[in-house]
Amino acid sequence: MTALPDLTGRIALVTGASRGIGYFIARHMAAAGAHVIAVARTTGGLEELDDQIKAEKDRTGKGEATLVPLDLTDMDGIDRLGGAVNERWGKLDILVANAGLLGVIAPIGHVEAKTFEKVMTVNVTSTWRLIRSVDPLLRQSDAGRAILLSSGAAHSARAFWAPYAASKAAVEAMARSWADETRNMALCVNSVDPGATRTAMRAQAMPGEDPETLPHPGDIAARIVPLADPTETRTGQIYQARHDRWVSYRMPE
Ligand code: NDP
Repeated sequence: MTALPDLTGRIALVTGASRGIGYFIARHMAAAGAHVIAVARTTGGLEELDDQIKAEKDRTGKGEATLVPLDLTDMDGIDRLGGAVNERWGKLDILVANAGLLGVIAPIGHVEAKTFEKVMTVNVTSTWRLIRSVDPLLRQSDAGRAILLSSGAAHSARAFWAPYAASKAAVEAMARSWADETRNMALCVNSVDPGATRTAMRAQAMPGEDPETLPHPGDIAARIVPLADPTETRTGQIYQARHDRWVSYRMPE
């Protein structure tokens, strides 16, 4: 596993922490010393995460979690979350906008309106709303780090993936703009393309695929966590975790 950075005392908000890549990002960040604010709908997954973080703390003395059961379609709830973090900590060091929805793999003309709208709401609107809710708090950090989960689908011409691909292209566009707005600040904003990873979402997308041929989400998460290191100062880029490769955006003149 990639060596974890020292995140002692950092406050990290991770969405989609109940399973898959987000669950392991949260676990690794806590193991690295962070206090993780873990967001998802499934309380069972969040409690399992909390148990693991507590067990790790018993061994190492490091890491803590605050569980936030929240449906990210609840925009007022997202607004309140920023306020709650502000009241308790007055700042946020790390944002990992990881929660995501695949929707449906289907010809573009067959996608139902409610499916398209749900993908956009969870992947795009809630991510923007969360950014808006915590941007002032990240600016209060001495080394704010924002990590937005994207996908190769944002760039590749992939038949039947239109809603998801469009949503991830939008996430990257937001990350790019936000990175440019904050480029002279202590806040770094990057997109991450994890690459094909052994999770429920991937199994839904590729039901015929043998999951054992794919990297474990814990390994992919371990590559993503170092982006939160205060000493990692790249911003406005895409990190392709599976290939351990950085890709630069074209920034404005
Ligand atoms: P999973 O489907 O395994 O997990 C998705 C997470 O998002 C869950 O924790 C889920 O929690 C949360 N989530 C979904 N909808 C909501 C909602 N309405 N409110 C709150 N939380 C929600 O996905 P992965 O771990 O595979 O994916 C993580 C990220 O990586 C996603 O953004 C995905 O697009 C991206 N990605 C994944 C790839 C892969 O191969 N796995 C490849 C490329 C990108 P709950 O259901 O408990 O609410």
